[in-house]
Amino acid sequence: MVDIYAMGLIVQKYGGSSVADAEGLKRVANRIVATKRAGHQVVVVVSAMGDTTDELIDLANQVSPLPNGRELDMLLTAGERISMALLAMAIGNLGNEARSFTGSQAGVITTSAHGRARIIDVTPSRITEALNEGAIAIVAGFQGISQDTKDVTTLGRGGSDTTAVALAAALDADVCEIYTDVDGIFSADPRVVPAAKKLKTVTYDEMLELAASGAKVLHLRCVEYARRYDMPIHVRSSFSNNEGTWVVKDHPEGGTYMEQAIIAGIAHDKSEAKITVVGVPDRTGTAARIFQAIADADINIDMIVQNVSAAATGLTDISFTMPKTEGAATTAILQRIQGEIGFQSIQYDDQIGKLSLIGAGMRSHPGVTATFFACLADAGVNIEMISTSEIRISIICRASDLENGVRAAHTAFELDAAQIEAVVYGGTGR
Ligand code: ADP
Ligand code: ASP
Ligand code: MG
Repeated sequence: MVDIYAMGLIVQKYGGSSVADAEGLKRVANRIVATKRAGHQVVVVVSAMGDTTDELIDLANQVSPLPNGRELDMLLTAGERISMALLAMAIGNLGNEARSFTGSQAGVITTSAHGRARIIDVTPSRITEALNEGAIAIVAGFQGISQDTKDVTTLGRGGSDTTAVALAAALDADVCEIYTDVDGIFSADPRVVPAAKKLKTVTYDEMLELAASGAKVLHLRCVEYARRYDMPIHVRSSFSNNEGTWVVKDHPEGGTYMEQAIIAGIAHDKSEAKITVVGVPDRTGTAARIFQAIADADINIDMIVQNVSAAATGLTDISFTMPKTEGAATTAILQRIQGEIGFQSIQYDDQIGKLSLIGAGMRSHPGVTATFFACLADAGVNIEMISTSEIRISIICRASDLENGVRAAHTAFELDAAQIEAVVYGGTGR
């Protein structure tokens, strides 16, 4: 385990719930100054205050049903500008120098895809300069500047985590600390499973699957980045001094982890919708044409199920899931190619939930699927779709059954803590 107190350069990221109001900003400022006074160089990445980003999106939707991507990014990045400047002032008030920087000033260079830009490069010379002059650098999370268009971009919801890890890698920091409103990464979302257990360590591979399956405690890209650069992440609460969870390459040798846990965690996700293309002619190349049209629009598909075609008709159904936010666009594409492909109809269902079990121990333990399905059956949860990877099993069920299913699986895999240890310190869970 890395000893965080023997380190030189620390990147700390504070999420929206940690800086929700003036009190929160002052509390966080105190933590930052304490780290600085302990002899470290400190770079801070900050999110917008509380639910500011959601409120700005609501505002945009009130003036336009489909806001322009460039303008929406310009609007949303204002949220982080507010918190970074206020945080720098709060630190100044404690007698330390802090300088705030926008993503662009911090050298976060991205692609030009508004709302989901990817970081191409980080050139943090102004941050290094500030550190060398003894200042604390505060960087606005979740934003950058496009290499081609020079426009301001955002990295997607939750993207401040990625800003933090990318900066940590570029600055060759010793650790990236992600401060949030829970004490670390738990065996399930503590807002849904009060008996969730805090994990001491989780591997990059497990965390990638957890994040991709809806555990929003870390942004997926930030974990990809950390794995690529082998950057240790320490996820912890800004409201307590408890040790959090370390996201690392491997579980430490000799830890009790391997013996006890086949399943590291359970993730759930209500952000997807399911489309069924009904009565598709069972001919070579049909699925390719459907999914090519969707891919051409840059829409990510998650699970796919195709049934055997009915002997009498030669027709089959294809179901797949994608983010609800892409539902309207996907339906429009399918309507456009319906005549050409000759399927019968399209069904759209946004009342689904996804439940995923994740654990490296699954590789060597047969019977996980059987236990999982049996516990869902006992809980009255009907399985609609299934997908697996080497260390994950996911199912789709009714959204209304999802939370019950999560709790049932948590109990069935003996993950429940003997005593309640999960505390949710803040945030609205929005
Ligand atoms: P921040 O604003 O600090 O970025 P987020 O809301 O993005 O915080 O992420 C923290 C939230 O993630 C927690 O409040 C919790 O509800 C949720 N969460 C989901 N799955 C997990 C998990 N396995 N462990 C901890 N938190 C989780
Ligand atoms: N403020 C942005 C959001 O709410 C980015 C972040 O908090 O990570 O998604
Ligand atoms: Mg977050």
